[in-house]
Amino acid sequence: MRRLQEVLRDWEAVIGLEVHTELTTLQTKMFCDCRICHDDPPNTNVCPVCLGLPGALPVPNRRAIEYIVMAGLATNCHIQRHSSFYRKHYFYPDMSKNYQTTQGPVAFCMHGHLDLEVRGQGAQERPDATADKNEDGSYVAPIRILRIHMEEDAAKMVHVGGSEGRITSASESLIDYNRCGTPLIELVTEPDLRTPEEARLFMEKLRRTFMALGISDCSLESGSMRCDGNVSIRRRGTTGFGVKTEMKNLNSFKSLHDALAYEICRQAEVLEAGGAVRQETRHWEPSRRRTMVMRVKETADDYRMYPDPDLAPFDLSDEFVQQCRDRVPELPDARRDRYMAELGLSRKAAEQIAGDPATARFFEQAVRLAPRAASMVANVVVNMLPAMQAVTPEQTASIAELLAAEAITFAQAREVLGLADGTNEDPRRIVDERGLRQSTDADALAKTVDEVLERCPDQVRQYRDGNKKVVGFLVGQCMKASRGTGNPKLFNQLLLKRLST
Ligand code: ADP
Ligand code: MG
Ligand code: ZN
Repeated sequence: MRRLQEVLRDWEAVIGLEVHTELTTLQTKMFCDCRICHDDPPNTNVCPVCLGLPGALPVPNRRAIEYIVMAGLATNCHIQRHSSFYRKHYFYPDMSKNYQTTQGPVAFCMHGHLDLEVRGQGAQERPDATADKNEDGSYVAPIRILRIHMEEDAAKMVHVGGSEGRITSASESLIDYNRCGTPLIELVTEPDLRTPEEARLFMEKLRRTFMALGISDCSLESGSMRCDGNVSIRRRGTTGFGVKTEMKNLNSFKSLHDALAYEICRQAEVLEAGGAVRQETRHWEPSRRRTMVMRVKETADDYRMYPDPDLAPFDLSDEFVQQCRDRVPELPDARRDRYMAELGLSRKAAEQIAGDPATARFFEQAVRLAPRAASMVANVVVNMLPAMQAVTPEQTASIAELLAAEAITFAQAREVLGLADGTNEDPRRIVDERGLRQSTDADALAKTVDEVLERCPDQVRQYRDGNKKVVGFLVGQCMKASRGTGNPKLFNQLLLKRLST
């Protein structure tokens, strides 16, 4: 098959996503007060309501409605004051009521949008002629959101005794109703995405946003956030829609990207050979890097949807919507921009810290203690903390100040943090106790430089032959020789001086 970038020069991809998010941070289910905890023993968090026993009456979870309204506000949706729940009928053991309670034509959140900033290599998936690109090749893609509606999750089924857990060859199917009735929000985009990279960025941005709202643990891996990718292609320059296929099992950002890329190339091959794309649901197999037919689309879905007589329609008050608005925190992209503008962080560091609420909280706490060393705090948070267990914001602030004052080297900072990790020790004390101060003693450093130059005649020759980059290697050797205590800037200066004479 041809490569994606080549295919996308002749064909334009049209992609729409359907994203399900379980509101896992809620205590109780959507219509009953059973606990939400999938790890409990099977079928222990159940009651007549979520099992759908006759006569049981559902009561909507107010917090769940708050969460979906917050999700709508954070994605620029119109909050629909009047909406209602419908019954969507189907027969399958994972839904013992024989219908799923979901929203009808009008959802709580309608017509929103997210703007994607596409940069770097991913931006090249979109041919230059088709996007308003900036000088560096980056561009902004506005993606419309059709709706976000509320529904309930089904039970979890496990098929045993067969191959790859397939129901067709299983000898036994087990059902765990603990997940049944878990509040779920489904977001549907308009078919506005044009490249697999845009789809991935959309999903990443959505995940960052929902994480910041605290409405879900947003784990693609464990399935609390699930995404279906719909894709069709059309000849560049045309505007009609082609026949689409729908991809399931996209449980990582990479799978989402790669499955769409594969599918675009596959459809192009089919069409270029004079064939027709069939409307079908396909399953992504990451190990074989291909999609396989799961089922051919039913001709007409007949779910006999009608308003649920057990649930009164909603009329959300202005006051309620305002309360939800007040609960929406600063969102990750705004936070990233603020870190860059106000604290002078690099885009990469700002993005990484702002993208995770716990990291952002930690970072801001440390910056309050070391306000003049903010970018050094960011450096420590991004580069050193991932290897630590329980370093505090106070310790992080101390280390950042020591680094900013060039009192210690990065190697020393790492060592000190390792010692402080899990204790309440102040890194400054550890530094003093161990005499770990960074050496700026020019005579001592000069001696190290001489030793290193003597040991590395090859590199010295290379430098004199014009390979100036070799200095970096020599600085590294000096740092090693001084066991990480020498000031790298001074080493650099001393080396240049020696090498130029
Ligand atoms: P279905 O009836 O198959 O569920 P929908 O109209 O509900 O299809 O759309 C589901 C998703 O597929 C939406 O995200 C939508 O944007 C996207 N979509 C619809 N038509 C196309 C198309 N021709 N190509 C790609 N994506 C599409
Ligand atoms: Mg649909
Ligand atoms: Zn229940």
